[in-house]
Amino acid sequence: TRIQGEEDLPHATKKTMADHLRKYESLFTLTPQRMRMIVEAFTETLEIGLNKPNQIVPMIPTYVFGWPTGQETGDFLALDLGGTNLRVCLVTLQGEGKFEITQTKYRLTEEQKQDDGQKLFDFCAECLKTFVDTNFGERDSALKPGQNLPLGFTFSYPCSQERIDHGELIRWTKGFGAANTEGRDVAEMFKKSLEKYQLPIQLTALINDTTGTLIASHYVNPRTKIAVIFGTGCNAAYMENVKNIEKINHLGIDPAAEMAINCEWGAFDSFEHEHLPRTKYDAIVDDTSNKPGEQAFEKLISGRYLGEILRLVICELIDEGVLFLGQNTYKLEKPYCLDTAFLSLMESDPTDELLMIIGIFTHFFALETTLAERQFFRALAKLIGRRAARLSSCGIAAIVSKMGYLEEGCMVGADGSLYNKYPGFADRVHEGLQDIFGEKGRNIITHHAEDGSGVGSAIIASYDKDQERRWIV
Ligand code: BGC
Ligand code: MG
Repeated sequence: TRIQGEEDLPHATKKTMADHLRKYESLFTLTPQRMRMIVEAFTETLEIGLNKPNQIVPMIPTYVFGWPTGQETGDFLALDLGGTNLRVCLVTLQGEGKFEITQTKYRLTEEQKQDDGQKLFDFCAECLKTFVDTNFGERDSALKPGQNLPLGFTFSYPCSQERIDHGELIRWTKGFGAANTEGRDVAEMFKKSLEKYQLPIQLTALINDTTGTLIASHYVNPRTKIAVIFGTGCNAAYMENVKNIEKINHLGIDPAAEMAINCEWGAFDSFEHEHLPRTKYDAIVDDTSNKPGEQAFEKLISGRYLGEILRLVICELIDEGVLFLGQNTYKLEKPYCLDTAFLSLMESDPTDELLMIIGIFTHFFALETTLAERQFFRALAKLIGRRAARLSSCGIAAIVSKMGYLEEGCMVGADGSLYNKYPGFADRVHEGLQDIFGEKGRNIITHHAEDGSGVGSAIIASYDKDQERRWIV
């Protein structure tokens, strides 16, 4: 296939693109040695977070005690407020690690993410109401009038918790900025919205998506010890011995008990920027975000930012007169216009001429490209995607080291758009783990997790009925 008009465009030659690529290769490549240094600092940070309250990586005690037995049963509602969508689920746990799920998704607008927080929770309640109204009748075994249904609310932002149905929002992440919410108990705010819509629902658990993923993955695969989310945001959870959570020792919880910890590791290296390999593009992403300084680790990894990092590199080369000379590049100059899904597409383009990349640039940005440029873009995407995966390995390795899971090995339940859709992401994470740990790195295996925000949240909501698991001060 000939690419029309290609030879007439005043584009850079193959040689100069290759020269440029070398520079970016050295900026975005992580050596095994560098990775091990990051793991060491990361492990230390996790420990500090367990020992002292209010650390940058807060290592949040979730009040989710211990693993599910697999025998949990019953009907539960689950509400999932993630980075992009709002989802309502009705989950029937059938025991033996089996379940049934009915769900509806609602799209969140940019305005809702920035508007008043109470309004956002009102919208959640409104969607719940629609869902309950529609599903009454069809599933009336689950939804009996006059009876309160237990609801697990998956709220995927850092919240410090004192009990399972409580959580003070520490800070918004992933571009959210709804007013009058940070520093407040979002469970309380949400209950207010439930009352307003007179819903026959009782909030029994407020959970993080990682915690839900941990519990759901273990429900179906008991070898799972760690859960990670690589989506719009990035985070991990694991099960800790209560005796090791020094900062809550004074509460008198049975030291032999186990409790899930929501690490909020996306905040690793925030503000100080001592440990992570930040390029100037990463610094721009950070400076121009609504939360400069924060979520330093997440900003190098998560789906919300990878496309923007690539866009900034391309824009620099436009400014230097290397790319798109004589073409109007205004469409590409708009922040966040290059979605991370484009990087996935660029990496997976199977054609020799890279026709999919032609499509992206002509269709979305009205730009023509040469083959050399397209190969260059693909190589850049690969560098950025690979760095994200290898940094992810560093986080996983830190938990594995801290918990001593390397010898016996463990499974890591993983979810999120990046993990599920980005070609080769999981392989790169595994390769990274071997670069860190050598052969033994093979003992750590990630797998696609069960739906944590639906199934996991239902299992946790069921814990509340189980008096033995309940912890009362
Ligand atoms: C949030 C976490 C969440 C992660 C993945 C991060 O931005 O702080 O609470 O688990 O995104 O959704
Ligand atoms: Mg989610």
